Amino acid sequence: MDYPTKRTWAEISLSAISHNYHAIRSVLPSECRFLGVVKADAYGHGSLRVAALLQKEGADYLAVSCLDEALELRRNDITMPILILGHTPVEYTALLLENNLTQTATCLAKAEEYSREAGRLGQTLRLHIKLDTGMSRLGYLCAGDYFEEGVRNIVRSYRLPNLEYEGIYTHFSVSDEDDAESRAYTDAQFALFTRMISTLKEREGISFPICHCANSGAVIRKPETFLNMVRPGLLLYGYGDEGKLGLRPAMRLVTTVSTIKYYEPGTFVSYGRRFETKRLTRMGVIAAGYADGLPRLSSGRCSYRIGAKSVPQCGTICMDMCMVDLTDHPQAEVGSEVELFGPENDIMMLSDAAQTIPYELLCSVTKRVPRVYV
Ligand SMILES: *Cc1c(COP(=O)(O)O)cnc(C)c1O
Repeated sequence: MDYPTKRTWAEISLSAISHNYHAIRSVLPSECRFLGVVKADAYGHGSLRVAALLQKEGADYLAVSCLDEALELRRNDITMPILILGHTPVEYTALLLENNLTQTATCLAKAEEYSREAGRLGQTLRLHIKLDTGMSRLGYLCAGDYFEEGVRNIVRSYRLPNLEYEGIYTHFSVSDEDDAESRAYTDAQFALFTRMISTLKEREGISFPICHCANSGAVIRKPETFLNMVRPGLLLYGYGDEGKLGLRPAMRLVTTVSTIKYYEPGTFVSYGRRFETKRLTRMGVIAAGYADGLPRLSSGRCSYRIGAKSVPQCGTICMDMCMVDLTDHPQAEVGSEVELFGPENDIMMLSDAAQTIPYELLCSVTKRVPRVYV
């Protein structure tokens, strides 16, 4: 293994991602396709490596958030289908076509623009229709009184020339929540989605080869939503399965102890004097801070792991360093590895301390942190 300079690094286990992929696949019907979400540099894990792995393992589709992410994959030998989940301005239609990318159509006006531009270029652009069934973000309106208008707009989009409608999808906003209200909300979103699909089919004679909606939360909780493709992201990286699939965290964020000092009781530690030692304290300085991706909001409210022991983080997290109390861990020494999160130090503890979610912590690991593939 190549640890650039043994300061702070992210160990990424490709075998964990491969294990997670197969664990997810094992709960899908055999004909159900698998789309792996690799947006945001594969949630910080490195989209080139993750996409290459999924391509080799036989995943059916990839999704990214934008054209730039898709182009990076295409320039690096990723040949499998790629869906762009976000908006691509119509002036980039030629790039979509040249790179054999699938674009999301989120409303009639945009479908019309893509149709015109694809026609001008003399080609056919592949699209997936996105329905807004309750996320209230991108997508054709179709909830409540908008249903018939939604049908009309999709029918009009469908009849436009130079477009191929390969898929239709929607996105759940609370599929990862277990309370009754959230479950009912997800059920209602799903019912609206399937009602639109069947209305289009039975009344308008329009059908889509691929229908998908199951993000990680739904893959774990709602098998009825699998349809013929699922669309998980977080699960691939080892989180969000509530222990049900035996997933393995793929990223281990590690730093090292830079120095150790003893402080008398009553010593203030770090910016803002927010931590004061209560006892003679063996304090370690570790080489990771918010410029590596540690949330400053978690200052003084979390612990990290050295070997088999937890060490409390003390004082304000600085840009490049922070402090940990090593008084009860006499074996820790300069150079000791500190797991910030990973298989031994649950990312949930850290994300709770920072009032956020594992997604944000994974995506927040910065460019300065080398990814080491193991
Ligand atoms: C990010 C995203 C996903 C993946 O979500 P997870 O919760 O990570 O599974 C799926 N679909 C869309 C539209 C997304 O934006």
